[in-house]
Amino acid sequence: MAIMITEECINCGACEPECPNNAIYEGGAEWRFSDKTKVSGMFAKMDGTMIDGNTPQPPKVMDRYYIVTDKCTECVGFHDEPQCASVCPVDCCVDDPDFREPKDDLMAKKVRMHG
Ligand code: SF4
Ligand code: SF4
Repeated sequence: MAIMITEECINCGACEPECPNNAIYEGGAEWRFSDKTKVSGMFAKMDGTMIDGNTPQPPKVMDRYYIVTDKCTECVGFHDEPQCASVCPVDCCVDDPDFREPKDDLMAKKVRMHG
């Protein structure tokens, strides 16, 4: 599954630079598939819909850091454990029960974004 950030977030920003997929954004910030990935042009999201990887997307959360589920691989392909959860001082980076993906799928997700 992907990782999500709960309302306990204190907006310290420690997690953002640790993410190998640039899947973490500050509240209110726009996000892009192309940020820190090789995605360029049209790209298929997890739900099959197409999106322009270079186009800024609306922020998912306004008042605290958030994770773009479509970009989170639980750090599979880069690290043994989720780096955001490792550095978060208040343990608010947790498993997202709404997005459960087998490790093989997470690796495929990583390859699609980074080659
Ligand atoms: S688990 Fe890894 S890939 Fe997912 S948001 Fe955290 S640091 Fe990024
Ligand atoms: S490390 Fe934890 S508390 Fe700090 S911004 Fe990230 S999720 Fe929020």
